[in-house]
Amino acid sequence: MSHPSAPVSALDGVACRQVDTLAATHEQPVRLRLAGESRAGSPGWEPLGPGECARIYTGAPLPPGADAICPVEQLGSGAPEGWVDLLRPARPEDVRPLGEDFGAGEMVLPPGRLTPERLALAAALGHAAVPVLRPWRVALLSTGDEVKEPGEPLLPGEVYDSNRVGLRALLSECGCGVLDLGHAPDHPGALAERLESLGGADLLLTSGGVSMGRYDFVRDLLLERGKVDFWKVRMRPGGPVMLGTWADTPVLALPGNPVSSLVVFQVLARPALTGEGLHRVWLRAGSRFSSLPDKTLFVRATCTGGTVQPYPRQSSGVLRSLSESQALAVIPEGQDKAPGDEVEVLLL
Ligand code: AMP
Ligand code: MG
Repeated sequence: MSHPSAPVSALDGVACRQVDTLAATHEQPVRLRLAGESRAGSPGWEPLGPGECARIYTGAPLPPGADAICPVEQLGSGAPEGWVDLLRPARPEDVRPLGEDFGAGEMVLPPGRLTPERLALAAALGHAAVPVLRPWRVALLSTGDEVKEPGEPLLPGEVYDSNRVGLRALLSECGCGVLDLGHAPDHPGALAERLESLGGADLLLTSGGVSMGRYDFVRDLLLERGKVDFWKVRMRPGGPVMLGTWADTPVLALPGNPVSSLVVFQVLARPALTGEGLHRVWLRAGSRFSSLPDKTLFVRATCTGGTVQPYPRQSSGVLRSLSESQALAVIPEGQDKAPGDEVEVLLL
């Protein structure tokens, strides 16, 4: 089908033949005979003759013969019953042509994520149902002896499990089903036990225990009893990330630092899970961005006045930096950015 399925009016006003109205001005209005009405849902199909017009409302089809619209704001108030005065010429631009949105036979909705906007478009195309792929099922586990459930009392040195909450929400946003494995202590036995039943997950996502420390047992477990595809990516935050396999299930082991785990998800996991990365734009630097010689930086940044600025505190423990930023500025190895330089920006 085409949408609109016939030429329709973009405005409330009168439909007429443009040629009849070319001389219309405020001082010398053109008077047309009112021959009918066309409403959305009750189209007027009576053909218009020369010198005639029909009242028309937004979304209503034009009567045959009409090719232009004069909006209600441009109609005079002095015309007798059954006549209308136009204060300026009617315009064909205020007619929405047949198929303006989409034409019959056109490919409109290619495979991709069903965003609310694309769902609306599917409905506009008349689809009551659309075929979808099964969503990814992702098992999620956080680790760390010091990590506690939000709501529990906290002892000195302990932290609340922000990663699992953030990752769970990111997974939902990416359309994944989440198998929440909860939280495991830093103990190889306990960890292995927790990973015994992955419930047929397509991916295992872990947080913590994958850096250089003595108690980083996710790393040891994958190195010794799993398979490792790579460990460490030249990025900051989030360097010590590991990709491997555990019991035939792919594993993405994210670092534990609160900012690192969420940024690595956005940069590495999101594109893999959805086929689409964060929305990417280029903005001018509002202040200086320093680079590193051997790592790509993902700088938490604010976007104001058309420029991008680094958030003042970039420690990967400062979770507020993410919640108060709108974007990650991508600063490639060795490429400092001066104010005014173009910067690649990923919108959060
Ligand atoms: P790790 O990667 O396990 O060495 O953890 C690095 C830092 O991140 C430590 O300061 C941990 O306390 C913190 N951390 C680890 N897991 C979490 C979590 N689930 N939520 C919040 N912070 C965490
Ligand atoms: Mg840890």
